[in-house]
Amino acid sequence: MSDEKKILEEAFKFHGHICWASAAGTRAGLAALRTLGVKRAGASGDLHCILEIGENHGAQCFADGVQYSTGCTLGKWNIEKTGWGKLAFTLIDKKNQKAVRVSYRPGPHHKKVAESSFMRKRGQGIPPTEIPEEEAWEMVDIIWETPENEILTIGDVHPYEWEEFGEILGLVPCDQCGELVSKVYLRVVGKSHMCIPCSGYER
Ligand SMILES: [Zn+2]
Ligand SMILES: [Zn+2]
Repeated sequence: MSDEKKILEEAFKFHGHICWASAAGTRAGLAALRTLGVKRAGASGDLHCILEIGENHGAQCFADGVQYSTGCTLGKWNIEKTGWGKLAFTLIDKKNQKAVRVSYRPGPHHKKVAESSFMRKRGQGIPPTEIPEEEAWEMVDIIWETPENEILTIGDVHPYEWEEFGEILGLVPCDQCGELVSKVYLRVVGKSHMCIPCSGYER
């Protein structure tokens, strides 16, 4: 098995199930790393990702494939989303101040995915756990084996000015509930400093 296919298997473990959109995200993430000539973001955090997905729409699984393959994750705060509802992202190499945008392309492969036995069964309301794994892989292989230039649009590497904001350190207990909260999220209520839910403020 190729290294990239192993990464795909690991991405599915991270994501929780086998699906076409997380496979597309994984493929797009790997293509972005290769195009920028960088490695997956580890502890150093030299990468930042701007994802164009929105809220609560189909194929958001794309985001987990991008997170797993690029190493840009919500917990590391090196990924953010625009809320545009698109299967695309810009990966930024902060150190070298350059970036590339990658998007998932429509085409015959997408129709094949929609017509796969896995997706037809899903359409009939069969839960993914009751569909044989081979059928899920048949669908994923469509995404994985379509030539890259048919399935992805990889933009030109362009300059990207990156401004680094320092990490805000310091957690203090809320005067009301006693739970730890980042200093910048404390709200002043009378003489007390409280977390947002205790303060009654909306944000
Ligand atoms: Zn999924
Ligand atoms: Zn509180």
